[in-house]
This record gives sequence, structure tokens and C-alpha cells, in this order.
Amino acid sequence: MARAWDELVATARRTVADGLVVGTSGNVSVRVGDTVLVTPTGVPYDRLAPGDVVGVDLAGRQVLGSLRPTSELPMHLAVYDATDARAVVHTHAVHATAVSTLVRELPLIHYMAAALGGQVLVAPYATYGTQELAENVLRALEGRTGCLLQNHGTLTHGSSLSQAYDRTAQLEWMCRVWLAASSVPGTAPTLLSREQVAEVGERLRGYGQPG
Ligand code: 13P
Ligand code: ZN
Repeated sequence: MARAWDELVATARRTVADGLVVGTSGNVSVRVGDTVLVTPTGVPYDRLAPGDVVGVDLAGRQVLGSLRPTSELPMHLAVYDATDARAVVHTHAVHATAVSTLVRELPLIHYMAAALGGQVLVAPYATYGTQELAENVLRALEGRTGCLLQNHGTLTHGSSLSQAYDRTAQLEWMCRVWLAASSVPGTAPTLLSREQVAEVGERLRGYGQPG
């Protein structure tokens, strides 16, 4: 549990260091058995110490710590309920948030969409911290490991904090590419087909080093 908390704090700090959030925006969680460790609401991540652990059960009852959990707890718990995720990362990354205001789905600008399960969808806007937002996010996540939140930011999940974090970084990068390509006057970017992205999905299963 202590190790998972340290990793969670390091991941939350990384979202700030890498410019994916400003101040206390965004939140991170990791599931250890039937306990979900979460960032506390409204606390700068550089102030979090090893003893500040915040944990809830899968129904959202606080079982560890005294700091109040993130306001986006409904969204994190909904993801754990509906998927086999072990970690969830939510950010307000600039390019992803900008894209969330322009389209209902991120155009297939790059094959790395396959790393998120295919074309990334935009969850319709709802007030932060609400069950409605959690439900909109779940719908946008169907068959995927990441989505955009309209006029708000990103959410990705994975089997570990590092995988969930990497997916956020890839999503933000793809949004940046699309914005850059779309901003050239008088021309529009070429896009990939669903088939081309699906083919990469297959290939990525064998990507990297064996073992
Ligand atoms: P918390 O500080 O409650 O985690 O909220 C930040 C946020 O991003 C809300 O959407
Ligand atoms: Zn947010």
C-alpha cells in the first residue's frame, strides 16, 4: 500500500511537471485489491507526504487517511466498476482540452490511436465531480482506454499507473499533432481509416521487447 501511494504521488507530480495540469487540477488513482488510493481534493501534489495516503473502498467509503478524496471520485470508481483498470489518470492537458471543444471525436490523425483502443471519443460536458460526468465518461470509454472530456480534459486508464500515464501523454501528443496539422490554412490533414488503425492495434500487441 505504501509503495502504491508513493507511485501515485510521483505520477500526480509528473502530470504537473510535464505540463498536463496546472495547480491542483486533475487527479490520479490506483486500485490495490478492493481499495482505491486517490489524490486528495485541492491539495498541491508537492505537499503530499508518505503519511497522507487517502483510500476508499469500491463503494467510495473512506477507509484510509483523513484528507478528503478527489471530487472526481464518482468518475474513478465508475471506471473501476466497468473495466479491469488498475489505475486512472485525469488531466486538463492543453491540446486535448482544446480539441475537446472542437470535435465529438478525435480525427484519426495518427496510428497511435490504436494504443487507446481506436478513435478517441469526447464525453459530453457535465459539471465536474458529478455522477452525470462519470456516466458520460463511461460511455465514451466503451472499448477504449482513454477519452476526452468536453471543455474539461482527459481520462485514461491502464493496468498500472505508468501505463495510464503514458496513454494520457500519447493522447495529449495526438491532439497536439491534429491541432498543428489542422491549423495550416487552405489545406486539411490526411486521416487514417478505421481499418488502418485496427491493423496497428493487432501489430502493437507484439510491440517492444519480448517478456
Ligand atoms: P480535485 O482537486 O477534487 O481532484 O479536482 C480537480 C479536477 O480536475 C476536477 O475535475
Ligand atoms: Zn478535472
